Amino acid sequence: MERIYIGMGSNLADPAVQLRSAVEALARLPQTELVGVSGFYQSDSLLPGQPRYTNAVAALDSRLAPLELLDALQAIENGQGRQRLERWGPRTLDLDIVLFGDRLIDEPRLKVPHYHMQERAFVLYPLAELAPADLRLADGRTLAELLAACPFVGLERLPAA
Ligand code: ATP
Ligand code: CA
Ligand code: CA
Repeated sequence: MERIYIGMGSNLADPAVQLRSAVEALARLPQTELVGVSGFYQSDSLLPGQPRYTNAVAALDSRLAPLELLDALQAIENGQGRQRLERWGPRTLDLDIVLFGDRLIDEPRLKVPHYHMQERAFVLYPLAELAPADLRLADGRTLAELLAACPFVGLERLPAA
């Protein structure tokens, strides 16, 4: 069993509904237990001209191999109508593997820790609701250090539904 953190995002077709369906789908994954879900956070898109995003993080314990999990996450995205028209385009659902135990994965299809997590407040703050502040990344930095370097700016935590 390894503890895995999944970054979830949506900015189309009622994002909060998309994230709740994604959580249900994660809970149904084989050899996997859903351990927790953060609150939902809204922020402006990093690229101009897109609707605001809703993001959250889910914690899983799973026996799936990393690429098996990636396949399962992409199937969930596709099942919720994800279309890949342009890089970083608006999407009904995005599921990223943020952390997979303490593994460093560098494969063509999968880089873990997720390569932009340290500069994305919409990943770090929901992650901090689920993970201990002394959680250490493969490069030696702790979650607390990443948070200290990434201000809570432009994020709005939504009230629990
Ligand atoms: P970003 O990666 O900047 O968050 P994105 O999530 O919009 O952008 P996608 O179009 O969803 O990017 O994914 C492109 C590819 O990234 C996927 O097909 C997948 O193979 C690859 N990928 C690499 N590392 C990861 C990871 N840690 N989690 C999910 N996908 C990953
Ligand atoms: Ca992403
Ligand atoms: Ca993605």
